[in-house]
Formats: sequence, structure tokens, C-alpha cells
Amino acid sequence: MELRTDVNSVTNWNAPLVWEGTFDPVVIDAIYKKMDPRVAVVVFAVGKYTRFLKGFLESGEKHFLVDFRVTYYIFTDNKNAVPNIQMGKGRKISVIDIPSAKRWQDVVLGRMRWATITIDKQIRTEADYLFMMDIDSVFHNRFGAESLSRLSAVLHRGYYKNTKRDNFPYERRPQSKAYIPPGEGDYYYTAAVWGGYLEDMYKLVRYCYMQSEEDAKNKIEAVWQEESHLNKYLLYNKPTKVLSPEYLWSDYDQVPADIKVVRISQLVKNYAEVRPNGGH
Ligand code: UDP
Repeated sequence: MELRTDVNSVTNWNAPLVWEGTFDPVVIDAIYKKMDPRVAVVVFAVGKYTRFLKGFLESGEKHFLVDFRVTYYIFTDNKNAVPNIQMGKGRKISVIDIPSAKRWQDVVLGRMRWATITIDKQIRTEADYLFMMDIDSVFHNRFGAESLSRLSAVLHRGYYKNTKRDNFPYERRPQSKAYIPPGEGDYYYTAAVWGGYLEDMYKLVRYCYMQSEEDAKNKIEAVWQEESHLNKYLLYNKPTKVLSPEYLWSDYDQVPADIKVVRISQLVKNYAEVRPNGGH
């Protein structure tokens, strides 16, 4: 296999930085398959977002950790809208009822609360790894065991070429718990795909929940909700693997030459139409 040299394949704290061409898919799947881990995928489909379930799940069955044990935990306010999908062997769907919300910000931040409660109550005994993912996206290519580690975070497609950390959209108001001072930062990570060992993910999900509660008490909401808290945590607790933006691209953006493979892409959506309180 020819290894590519046009991208960094290691971070400055020596964690792998995963790009197509920096790993052998067959070898890495075989290594992890020996442990046969149980992988939980936590997704939310509240209000009109149930329309995204079919495309997400069907494409996930084609590309996400194929031949591994996977359970999709679908948190929804409308379980009748969960489609019937042909699931691979060892793979299933578990539906969790949650209430509707009036503001999209409440859905987005509420994810941290519901995930914390449900990991505690149920998922902890059912999974070894856990991924948090946005539902409004589709898998297009392999997303395999190369993504697994104690804590794996994905570079946000909008900022990975930007080496000026002061341009990252971190929370800059010292009043917020997510505050990152100027001059600090490694990368800007997306909160639309992140994963790791169950207990490490639990700690981080709970951290985002607690920090946002603290903010709410102080009448402030971090600029990018849980993504801001996630970035703060990962600055001081470095991820053990960093995944390139191949692991979350967007249909809004052209695919540049260094992205050889788009593994997941976010769909173009009409925000005003799908969100309960519209707009960005
Ligand atoms: N979400 C949802 N219902 C809503 C708003 C958000 O289920 O009314 C969930 C859904 O899983 C979505 C995620 O929260 O993928 C993130 O929200 P959104 O996609 O609106 O955020 P964006 O990435 O567009 O900023």
C-alpha cells in the first residue's frame, strides 16, 4: 500500500490523524474484529427530523462498521415515524421516547441531557463504544474500525485548513463555561460525529450537559451549543485519535483534492422549514 504524504497523519501530541491512504482497512478491521466490540450510535430525530432516519440508517447499514455489532439508539418524539429497515446480522435499532421541543437549541442541547440519562440507565451495559451523530446526514463510503479509539474527534470541514487558531469559532465570552482564551487551541472539531469508549464518551457527554446547565443558570448559551463545550474539553483532554473531515463532509461544500473519500455527508436542508423555531 502506498502511504500518502500530502497530509499530516499524526497530531502534535502523537495521536493518529486518520485520512484515506494512511491505514489498511482490511488489517485494521481484522484487529478490532477480534475484540468484537458492541458499538452504540446515539442519534436524535425530533420533530421534522424523523424524515432523515431512513437515509441515515439504510446508508449506515451499507457503510458503517460493516460486520460489527451495532445498535442505533434513536431518540424521538414520534416512534411511529421510525422506518422499518433491513438490518445486518448483529445489528439493531432501539427506540427511546423523548418529548418534543419548541426551540431547536433545546433539542440540540437536550441531547446531552438525554444521552447522559440513557447511558446511565441502559446503554452502559449494552455497548463498549459509543458514537454521537447528527441524523441529517448520509453515509457514502466506508466508516470502519480505523475510527475507533478511547476518544475520537472529527476535524470540522470549515476550519481544517485554517492554522490560525484565533479564527476558530470557539466560545470567546469569558462568562460562558465553554470559554477558550485567544492564543489557545489545536483544532476545531465538529459535534456532528464523535465517538470513543463508552465510559470516556459518558464523561464527555455529561460534561457538555453539566457545563451547558451551568451556562443556563448564568443566562448564557455557548455560541455553538454543545460543540463549544466539546471543543473546550478536547483542548485540555486531547483526543486519542483525530479523524479527517472525510468523516463528516457536507453537501453544501465542494470536495477539495485532499478529501479522497467522503464517508458521511450532511444533507442540504431548509432550516426555516425543518426547525421548530426556524432560522440558523
Ligand atoms: N435535531 C432534531 N430536531 C430538531 C433539531 C435538531 O432532531 O428540531 C437533532 C438532529 O439529530 C440534528 C441535530 O439535532 O441532526 C443537530 O441539529 P441541526 O442539524 O439543526 O444542526 P446543524 O448541524 O444544522 O447546525
